[in-house]
Amino acid sequence: MSDLLLDPEVAAFVGAMPKAEIHIHLEGSIRPQTLLHLAQRHDRMDLLPSDNLDALQQWFSFTDFPHFVQIYLTISQLLVTAEDFATVVSACGAEMAAENVRYREITVTPFTHTHLQAKGLAFGALMEGLEAGRQQALRDYGVEMRWVFDVPRNASFRPDSDRYDPFPAEETVRQAVAGMQHGVVGFGLGGFEVGAPPEPFAHAFAAAKAAGLRSVPHAGETLGAASVWGAIDALGADRIGHGVRAVEDPVLLQVLKDRQIPLEINPTSNVALHVYRRAAEHPFPHLDRMGLLVTVNSDDPPLFNTTLTQEYELLAREFGYGRADLARVARNAFQVCGAPDDLRSNLLDEFDGWVAANL
Ligand SMILES: [Zn+2]
Repeated sequence: MSDLLLDPEVAAFVGAMPKAEIHIHLEGSIRPQTLLHLAQRHDRMDLLPSDNLDALQQWFSFTDFPHFVQIYLTISQLLVTAEDFATVVSACGAEMAAENVRYREITVTPFTHTHLQAKGLAFGALMEGLEAGRQQALRDYGVEMRWVFDVPRNASFRPDSDRYDPFPAEETVRQAVAGMQHGVVGFGLGGFEVGAPPEPFAHAFAAAKAAGLRSVPHAGETLGAASVWGAIDALGADRIGHGVRAVEDPVLLQVLKDRQIPLEINPTSNVALHVYRRAAEHPFPHLDRMGLLVTVNSDDPPLFNTTLTQEYELLAREFGYGRADLARVARNAFQVCGAPDDLRSNLLDEFDGWVAANL
């Protein structure tokens, strides 16, 4: 954590500003109290290290990648029924309202729930739960959500061979297309980049784009520029999840700038996962100054002990971003999100009105 001080006026501005977020994982957005609730609901307290909220919060905070994966798996094990999904989505809506996040495009990995874990969850039940939670969040808090369904890339490469298995991607496309009438707007690719390059997934991204979904793969996080090139050339990326390591390749930077391919940047996540040693070394301001289309996001907020508001505060504290620059970056997220045109223009009107009155 930085000991730099944040101007209280900037903090108040960031807190009140209407925000949009386009890179956050549903499974990684669940707070300890919601997880405790799910464990009690299913009588599975044995899965948690404690029933004390402070201890759970402690357990949640990031130490290393294996621990992070363990928490992720525990969360997945407790998402069993449609009602569970509705519960976590609705809780996410409450947090959005508290932070003035007006729109969130949330990544879900349905294949993990329907195929990788033997919990008997049918895709229909998962979708029903997501939709119920989304509608409740809109009713109760007036916040809008849409979904990105992503392929867990490592499931496509069997540990015993480097042969690509197309099934996880094909199944996820089928699920994403089926979910389009219930708010699915994007098709993604997540997991460890190492040993799971983007190119083999081209068949699924072509099908997703043909169906009208946006291509939003993770790339350029744990691997460098080559994975971002692959995301652009093989997957027709409409946005890049992370993409920060494009900074290592000047030609790639120029392409990202010329085509204005948006980057979904997650500074605190990158520091937690050791992509950069500290926030001050993060290339966000460089990418922004170069003229790339940057957005700021929280990725897995409770697991990285952050919030979207804190990510904006980080830009102010570490890089001296003032209100005008913070508003400019915030506007990008509304502009490049996958919301239907009428919703996007309403959100932009609201945002522009607020900034005109408060800047
Ligand atoms: Zn992510």
